[in-house]
Amino acid sequence: MMSPIIRTPHTESLSSVRVSSLRPSRNAWGTVRVSFEFFPAKNAEAEPALWEAINRLTPLQPEFVTVTYGAGGSTRERTLNTVSRIVRETNVAPAAHLTCVGATRAEVDDIVRAFWAAGVRRIVALRGDPPGGVGARYEPFPGGYQTTAELVAGIKKIGNFNVAVSAYPESHPESGSWQADIDVLKAKVDAGADMAITQFFFENDLYFRYLDRVRAAGIPIPIIPGIVPVQNFRQTANFAQKTGASVPQWLADRFEGLDDDAATRRLIAAAVAAEQVIDLVDRGVQDFHFYTMNRADLVYAICHLLGLRPNEALQAA
Ligand code: FAD
Repeated sequence: MMSPIIRTPHTESLSSVRVSSLRPSRNAWGTVRVSFEFFPAKNAEAEPALWEAINRLTPLQPEFVTVTYGAGGSTRERTLNTVSRIVRETNVAPAAHLTCVGATRAEVDDIVRAFWAAGVRRIVALRGDPPGGVGARYEPFPGGYQTTAELVAGIKKIGNFNVAVSAYPESHPESGSWQADIDVLKAKVDAGADMAITQFFFENDLYFRYLDRVRAAGIPIPIIPGIVPVQNFRQTANFAQKTGASVPQWLADRFEGLDDDAATRRLIAAAVAAEQVIDLVDRGVQDFHFYTMNRADLVYAICHLLGLRPNEALQAA
């Protein structure tokens, strides 16, 4: 039998061992903060799945969790009901998304007051997509808030909400230029926005280049990267196309041939998201917003990787 060869690491590999152990992603315990996005359940049958996801993720003590507002204001009641229940049944701060679409100022203001009355202190303020769908021309609603900046100012007048707004590392599909995009973000910040959450992206360099533009324009607020774990590649690619987010070829290649292999797809999805967030942590990012698609497991695993552990006292019975 051959005796095993024991190699003594030479200086170079020893120093690389030392360097890699200094990577923030390997020492990030307690420094990473997260938030989670859910959408309101479509009907009573979908409620349990939403609450299973909320109850699984909230013990990780996110900074806040957000609940989307359906296109054209279609989930007004359901968004309100969901954030109200989060206030009542969890220890986590909910943020209600709200758009300017299809409602007068007075109607939007009533919703903002209803959020406040329910104990909600955070709002994600958005313009919303045109009622004709993505790609149609956007027309402000008559008597409604004309821009997101106006909406932000309106919300701040009603109550001392923490207001988040959107940001687009690859620019918004309707934007004529980078300057227009940054100008819109600046107007929202001037109106009082406290932070921005980005559209999802897969190439981290896009986020950092965007951050450079934002900071060069003198915009100081946190720009929190939005991370989408790819639960379903085709669905994500379709959605990305509508929102102007690019899907790199390497990502398509990683999911190639897995349409009928859900188990491997999930492992790949976890690996892809892990690679992305670890790179972001190593490059100094500490805050993450996860688009959960109302499913907890992938997001939970990534948060575990980032050093987050559940607070047992907050674990659902
Ligand atoms: P804004 O930030 O107001 O504008 C977006 C871009 O449009 C600007 O950056 C600029 O490029 C262009 N633009 C706007 N006005 C002008 C102008 N006057 N001149 C030149 N260019 C202009 N949609 C929902 O329906 N419900 C949700 O809950 C929801 N949540 C979202 C959460 C996040 C984090 C993000 C990133 C998006 C969300 N959306 C949601 C989608 C959003 O409504 C759409 O992307 C919509 O098309 C733009 O809304 P906005 O608030 O991002 O727009």
